[in-house]
Amino acid sequence: MHDIELYLERLRQNDLKVTPKRREILRLFLESGAYHSPLDIHRYLTKRFARTGLPTVYRILHEFSQIGLLKLYYHPDRQLYYYFCDMSGTHHHHFFCIDCHRVQTVLYCEFDALKKHVAETLSAEVTDHHLEIEGQCSRCR
Ligand SMILES: [Zn+2]
Ligand SMILES: [Zn+2]
Ligand SMILES: [Zn+2]
Repeated sequence: MHDIELYLERLRQNDLKVTPKRREILRLFLESGAYHSPLDIHRYLTKRFARTGLPTVYRILHEFSQIGLLKLYYHPDRQLYYYFCDMSGTHHHHFFCIDCHRVQTVLYCEFDALKKHVAETLSAEVTDHHLEIEGQCSRCR
């Protein structure tokens, strides 16, 4: 599984001190393998730390996404969630379970075929695409 020390080191490299709250948020993402809303995180942190403001949670999540540890997921319920993704080198997508919130990596993409299709039908040049795959995971279906 993921070694938290590796990612704590990433914080230090980016001039972010390893505070108990930053560590706890990172641990939650690594251990759950799921997507979480800022409110979920806030609820979780207030059980462990007496004083945790919601702005602190938003700030930490933003910092983590700035250094490439977390990504944003726009759920069909129109809420904004964060999830852990550190596979920046390999092109991939994610499968989001709408029931248990588990996130799984999908190493499959027909981008070249899509690009070709758009070029042929719209005479347009595709430079990027976003694909979020949702459904019920193997444990929930
Ligand atoms: Zn990923
Ligand atoms: Zn599930
Ligand atoms: Zn793709």
